Amino acid sequence: MANGEKRDYYEVLGVHKNASETEIKKAFRKLAIQHHPDKNQGDKEAEEKFKEATEAYEVLSDAQKRAQYDQFGHAGVSGAGGFSGGGFGGFGAGSPFGDIFGDIFGDIFGGGTGRRSQGRRGDDLLYNMEISFEEAAFGCEKKIDVPYAKRCSSCNGSGAKPGTDPKICPTCRGAGQVRYQQGFFSVSKTCGQCNGEGKVVDDPCPDCRGKGSIKDTKTLSVKVPGGVETGSRLKLTSEGGQGVKGGPNGDLYVAIAVKEHPLFQREDDNVVCEIPISFAQAALGCEIEVPTLDGKVSMKIPDGTQSGKIYRLRGKGIPSLQGYGRGDQLVVVKVETPTNLNKKQKELLEEFAKISGEEAHPMKKGFLDKVMDFLS
Ligand SMILES: [Zn+2]
Ligand SMILES: [Zn+2]
Repeated sequence: MANGEKRDYYEVLGVHKNASETEIKKAFRKLAIQHHPDKNQGDKEAEEKFKEATEAYEVLSDAQKRAQYDQFGHAGVSGAGGFSGGGFGGFGAGSPFGDIFGDIFGDIFGGGTGRRSQGRRGDDLLYNMEISFEEAAFGCEKKIDVPYAKRCSSCNGSGAKPGTDPKICPTCRGAGQVRYQQGFFSVSKTCGQCNGEGKVVDDPCPDCRGKGSIKDTKTLSVKVPGGVETGSRLKLTSEGGQGVKGGPNGDLYVAIAVKEHPLFQREDDNVVCEIPISFAQAALGCEIEVPTLDGKVSMKIPDGTQSGKIYRLRGKGIPSLQGYGRGDQLVVVKVETPTNLNKKQKELLEEFAKISGEEAHPMKKGFLDKVMDFLS
């Protein structure tokens, strides 16, 4: 600690007496970065300035301490300096420095904050599931095998050979964290010998090789709701990777891919189906059978139907994922021009062409009229 008179905390941070919390935080952050001991190795003055700013910040960032300071000056908050005990008491949650030091360490140490890592959440897993068009439409239940770490039954998860016990890690003395000196203050870090477990195993369990868990798979039943499509994701909470040191499990996501259907395509909740009909059927009208998700239905095609005409079968589409009704089936009629004609067929068509007037082909007549207008 610097000897002599203490400077006014507001003056130290260079802020007004009425400065807001944000202004105080901002001012401190600036000073802390400027005078940080890592940037000013061996610079005693910078170190003192850093300590001074930190002490001022600790008081002024705390509403109660700030009020006491405003009323009684340094006497009101004596002993409040965070350094008196030698080093920081850790930067974890609860420390007044928690968030701001997170920011600063992020800048200076490239993200290594030395925060205490109590319990880590398990990994999220992604499972790719391929289902049929019909399964996507109406939903299905699928069994999937998911890898997971099963607690080793031989050692009960301790990792130690049955009959022996894990011992306290000599490096961190069971804390799971080690402190090291960075500049003039200490930073804690996960212990490398025990990986934060606080315990080490001399005689590893032969079944799990000291890990305490064995790779296994579990079979899960996944309910896929009707209406899903390629890209839909289902979330199975807590079915992902196992948490570490009592942390929660990760989640399992099931990514849906829908197989192509030979007849149907999907447009939102509608099913599109192209149906070829012959030129004669289109001209004379006919009744055709249309495949739908619910089976075959019979549909009347009126005479004079043009290629590309779309007919709508209401309610024969995909059930909505939200559970409100169903889409439609759109039947796209494709008129097929006959090919590979034999002699007889050609003769008949030539005969047909000869006796077909303009009234049989209004579209063609309309087009030709337009061409005449355009060229004249
Ligand atoms: Zn074991
Ligand atoms: Zn250790």
